[in-house]
Amino acid sequence: MERRKGELSDPPRIYVWCNSCSHQWHTMVALAEDGAGISGHVCSSHGFAGYDMGFNSEQKHERYDEHYPDGWELIWVEDFKASMAGDSRFAAAIEANRARADLEKANA
Ligand SMILES: [Zn+2]
Repeated sequence: MERRKGELSDPPRIYVWCNSCSHQWHTMVALAEDGAGISGHVCSSHGFAGYDMGFNSEQKHERYDEHYPDGWELIWVEDFKASMAGDSRFAAAIEANRARADLEKANA
């Protein structure tokens, strides 16, 4: 799944994936390319992710617009490990997020 907003030819990316899959609930997270966690959603069905996270709806777009006012590209990550290995921008986003978490810990 992908969704784009804005006129940029190469917009910043927002990666979305299911961080915990169980038969009772699913925790979706949205991670901006700069490492900021910008949204999350808990839902009862993995199949609702497209709607809940704004791929085929306007859900969460306000948050995305707030973070990247000039536009963004929403990318669904189905296989976390494969994306870590095959998409250097995703791997960099995860790395940036970890660096931020480390920073928060250091400042705590
Ligand atoms: Zn799931």
